[in-house]
Order: sequence, then C-alpha cells, then structure tokens
Amino acid sequence: MQLTGHPIIDIGLAVACNISHKKSVTELSEKDLQTASQWFLSEIEQLEKRHIFSSYWQNNPFMGKNITSKTKYKRELALMVNSTVDSTSHACQTCGKSKSFIPLSRTWFPLGGSASTDPCTYPNLEGKHLCLSCCRANVLATMGCRFASGKPFLIHVNDPELIIASANSAFNAIKMALTAGGENNISDNAVSKGHLGLFEILTNSPLWNPLLTGGFNRIPKDGATVIQFSNSGTAAYFYQLILPARILEFFTNINASGISKEFVDIIRWSSKNDNPSILHTIETGKSIAPLLFYKLDKSKQPTLSEKEITLMKVYESVAINKQERFEVIQGFAKRVCDMDKPHFDSFTKQLANIKKRETLLDLLTKFSKSSSINLTISNDVLKMFYIEPTTEIAKMLYLLCIAESNKKN
Ligand SMILES: [Zn+2]
Repeated sequence: MQLTGHPIIDIGLAVACNISHKKSVTELSEKDLQTASQWFLSEIEQLEKRHIFSSYWQNNPFMGKNITSKTKYKRELALMVNSTVDSTSHACQTCGKSKSFIPLSRTWFPLGGSASTDPCTYPNLEGKHLCLSCCRANVLATMGCRFASGKPFLIHVNDPELIIASANSAFNAIKMALTAGGENNISDNAVSKGHLGLFEILTNSPLWNPLLTGGFNRIPKDGATVIQFSNSGTAAYFYQLILPARILEFFTNINASGISKEFVDIIRWSSKNDNPSILHTIETGKSIAPLLFYKLDKSKQPTLSEKEITLMKVYESVAINKQERFEVIQGFAKRVCDMDKPHFDSFTKQLANIKKRETLLDLLTKFSKSSSINLTISNDVLKMFYIEPTTEIAKMLYLLCIAESNKKN
C-alpha cells in the first residue's frame, strides 16, 4: 500500500503495520489491513470502557450515550471489517480510488460533518466518502494517537517507514491499557497550557531522540505535521502544527545534549505569561534571544547559564540556520567585554533598550569613534547590524555581553 498524504488515514495504515509487524507501509497488503481492523473489532468491548476515546465520535455513540447510533455504528463497523467490495459509486476522497464504501459522518470520521453539514468538504458531497481500505485505516487511526489535555493528537510524517515509529508508542500504550485495564500512559502531561502544552510534549518526544528506543533512526526530510483534534462536544476542534526538518533536528540536538529543559523553560514561561510568541518565533525563523531576554529581564542581576548560551547557539545554527550570525555577534561581545567597566555598563545599558536600527548604529558609531574607548568594529559585524532584524540582534548581543562579562568576573 502507499501513504495517502492524509494524516488520519496514514496513521491508521501505520497502526496496521504495527499490528502485522511490517517495516514499511509499502509492505502492507489489503489483507493485513483487514486482519488489523478485525483485531480492532474484537477489542471493541474493551475499548468502549475507556472514556478517553469519546473524543473521536460525535455524540459518543461508541461510548453508549446514544443507543440507536451505537447499534448502527457497530453494525456498519462489522460490515466494513468483513466486507470485500466497495459499495458506492463515489470516488474515495483521500486516495482517489474510484469506489467508496459509505458516506461517513462525524460518527465515523473525526472532523467530518453530517451528510448535509460537512465543514471539510463542499456542499452536496454528503460527508466523507472513503474506500474500504481508507475506511479501515480511519478506524485504526484511533490506536495511533496519544492524548494531551484530553484531546487526541497524531504525528504525521510523509515517510512509509518512519510513520510506523510515529504510531508505535500510542499503539503500545493502548495495547497495554487493554491488557492491564485503565487508561494509564496513553496521555502525555505538560505544565504549559493549550497549544504550548502540546509543544512542550513534542519538544521532549522520544521520537526525535535516536538514543531512546522507539525514536526515529533518521530525521524525516519533510519534517512532521502534528494534528490535534476532538470530535466530542458541539463543535469540532482542530489544531495543526508544522514542524520542519530543521526543528526536528533541533529537538534531537537539544535532547541529546541535555539542554531540552532550558527550552521547555521558555515554553513554560510563555504559557505562564500568556505569551504564545515562542511558536510564532519558530514558525517565522526568528531568534529566541528576545524571549530569553524577557525571561531574565526581571531579575536584578541578569545572567545566562552556560546551558542557555548553548541553547541559543544550537537554536541559531540548527533551527534557523544562522550559525554565522551567532558566531560574529559572540566574537563582538568578547570585544565589548574588553572595555573598562564604566564603558561596558554604559554600552550594555543603552543596548538593552534599543528597538530602532538608527539608534543601534548611532551607539556603535559613538563607541567606535572615541579614541579613549577603543572598541573596534569589523566589517562582518557591521554587516550583521545593517541586515539583521535590530531587536533580535541587539537582544542577542546584550545577552552574550552579560554572559561573557559574568564569565570573566
Ligand atoms: Zn481510499
């Protein structure tokens, strides 16, 4: 079989691979997929007892709150699992096969509306039409999601081998819960709230750490897309987070070097201060220096730990590909520290509040022109101050100056 590109269907195919011990979705057969969904059906009584799965189905027919829907759902589920032919003339909306099974509503398909009101498709398409294989994968996707704040999330990668690892930890946790009873270990907990909570969980995910069992053995070249959704309640919930390969590499790097806690601290600080800008910073490839700066601003004697300096360095070089910028600014910070204390204090105090490029350039000119101060500015430093965003570069220089000065004293 092939990946479809649809995160829910693909994660379902990955679950089927976990069940049939296949190493790639390309090794998975229709028969394997059917056997996997038969196993799902055999466990349904057990799954019904887990409250956590209510997020998948509108009005919770699966959980027994709507008895009529529940009977209908179970009957159609058995039909879908045991059927060998697709039954309608519609084309499958995820893989494009020419026949589909039944029109699926939110009872079946997370985020799909009812036949008349589907928020995901054009009017009159009568909800989602999936072929038999996609239908089975859709149902199995349940077993490839972990939960954060009670809502399921999945990690989609466009790689037929790595996606199996992506579904593995959820699948194992659910299987364990089925054997042992209870719902332990299916949920991930975070200190941060909402989207930042999910981001905190993702930062520490064992998937990016090749040193841990269950991790990716290579970085997926297209990165990963994280989808969190919920079908419970009156309105569908959907959140998508795109993690480019460079961010995954950054996560791998900070986990391997033992500095992920310092990054998680920034996420938690953002969450506590109701400031989601860390996500915006990463999405737009900006420096994290301003965030580290705000974090330290309130302390009387601002300082940055060695680990936080390393974090800034790794972030600049791996996450946003700005290694040269960091090295140039760090080199310049050392020269700033060579000034006598009164001049150093005066320079850094003014630097801390700079927002405009002209003010920054004026400050540099003032200090470099004075023969008594002796602060030389090379061309590569000057170039950075001309082309890089002022706030980012001024904050970064400030932090590095403070760190260098503390190291010296
Ligand atoms: Zn299909």
